[in-house]
Amino acid sequence: MKEPTMEDVIPINSLLTAGKNTSSFWIKASAKIANFSQKFWYTGCNTCWRAIQADHGQTFNYRNCSGQERVVEARCRFSIELKDSPGAISATIFGKIAEEVFAMDVQKLMQFSDKTIRLIQLLWEFGHSLKSTTSN
Ligand SMILES: [Zn+2]
Repeated sequence: MKEPTMEDVIPINSLLTAGKNTSSFWIKASAKIANFSQKFWYTGCNTCWRAIQADHGQTFNYRNCSGQERVVEARCRFSIELKDSPGAISATIFGKIAEEVFAMDVQKLMQFSDKTIRLIQLLWEFGHSLKSTTSN
């Protein structure tokens, strides 16, 4: 995907209208984690990434995924709130991009206790803000 020009960037408030013509957008917004009591990762099929309630590393035969043997893998996933002025929307970020926000991989994230998550929340609120251009 090529870098957007200023003409490509649309306000959050116009996403619904723009969604009638395209499924990808460029927005310029501030991002924050609004809910620190959410789970920051899930386990799923290592090929199609559908959520599966099983332990990381377990193998299984997945009918919904070509009936092939697959491996359960943990994947970073959490919701964020994106804001421009005056619009706001919630979004979910996954995988490597989500890991980059925490500057750690999902293996480390899985080891966190609620106490550690609370510490991250405090640090986040103390001064971390993320400015990014996000596409859907
Ligand atoms: Zn699958």
